[in-house]
Amino acid sequence: MIKSFVDKKLTFRDMDPDVSLKAAADMSSAEIIETVSASSLRGRGGAGFPTGAKWKFCSRAEGDQKYVVCNADEGEPGTFKDRVILTRFPHLVFAGMSIAARAVGATRGLLYLRGEYTYLREGLMAALQKRRDDGLLGDEIMGVDGFEFDIEIRMGSGAYVCGEETALIESLEGHRGEPRNRPPFTADTGMNAMPSVVNNVETFAWAAAIMEKGPEWFRVVGTDQSTGFKLFSVSGDIDRPGVYELPLGITVQELLAAVGGENAKAAVIGGASGRVVSQAEFNRKVCYEDVPTGGAVIVFGPGRDMLDVAENFLEFMCEESCGQCTPCRLGNTKLLECVRMLQEGTCSAAYLREIVELGESIHLASKCGLGQSSGNIFLSIVENFREEIMGRALGAVEPATLRS
Ligand code: SF4
Repeated sequence: MIKSFVDKKLTFRDMDPDVSLKAAADMSSAEIIETVSASSLRGRGGAGFPTGAKWKFCSRAEGDQKYVVCNADEGEPGTFKDRVILTRFPHLVFAGMSIAARAVGATRGLLYLRGEYTYLREGLMAALQKRRDDGLLGDEIMGVDGFEFDIEIRMGSGAYVCGEETALIESLEGHRGEPRNRPPFTADTGMNAMPSVVNNVETFAWAAAIMEKGPEWFRVVGTDQSTGFKLFSVSGDIDRPGVYELPLGITVQELLAAVGGENAKAAVIGGASGRVVSQAEFNRKVCYEDVPTGGAVIVFGPGRDMLDVAENFLEFMCEESCGQCTPCRLGNTKLLECVRMLQEGTCSAAYLREIVELGESIHLASKCGLGQSSGNIFLSIVENFREEIMGRALGAVEPATLRS
């Protein structure tokens, strides 16, 4: 079964963005939202918020100017599938944004492109101009009175936190990219304090595909709470790194078999904000109700030192914390310090226990998703590789007492 999924071509190759947009142009706002909701599509950026519900909230919000924002700030370590989508299927993404605009009543679209993807900008601008020339952007799209929408591209500058939607909006407005307090939520008070929809590149592409093929087509694979196929960026100690389209609900074991990673010691599912899954958990499912991911999978072979893995991800989090709140700004440096003490053989088991509690506190006390997930990799390594980690700590402590 898995082999057939791996051999299959990317679904997006068979899609016709014009057919998707025409289907939406012939529908009312409520009908589009009902179609997307019936598919149970959830955001492909990682958080997994139901797309239809997000569009419904924005459609009901009041504002003189509504926005559709595409989050193309693909900065998660180990993620590169949105780059492939933007390179090969830009019209599907733009069609998805236009469909969202018709659903919520937006007339302006913004694609926030990762700074490192500047080389994609020219091609994307050309694709946008072609859409204007073909009557697929601008006034009276596809001849439909009142269907007005256009898209511009704005560049990010390389901050990981700008993948968080409120920080992204701050950056779009020309401010420092820092997350906002919520509520108010973006659907009500987003770009320029106006109702806004922010979705990931892949989410817009799937929304367009659903408009062409229908919600039942999308629901054929996946689980009850995680429908459809998903694109995965898979890298690390495997035979066949690359972008894979696989059904949500696939087990870690099946995924590893598909990419030539059967000998893996561990896999980081979900990038720096994800978690480490050890061999003992390879039967777990990759989906929102079990092990969620925005698509990044990094595989570690038998020879890898898990403390090195923890150090690498914590260095990243310390670098990328925006610094607004103390638990995230200082807490992660304490976690990193502990990992280095373990590497040097100067960390006591008692101190390690305190640091594990600190990691859990960072999760509870941080303002945004970056801080709330920043300790995940460290905590899941301590939990899943207790013998390996405890063997590096000074003094004895019962593994069962390591975490409260
Ligand atoms: Fe900034 Fe971290 Fe606080 Fe998020 S949790 S607002 S990244 S300091």
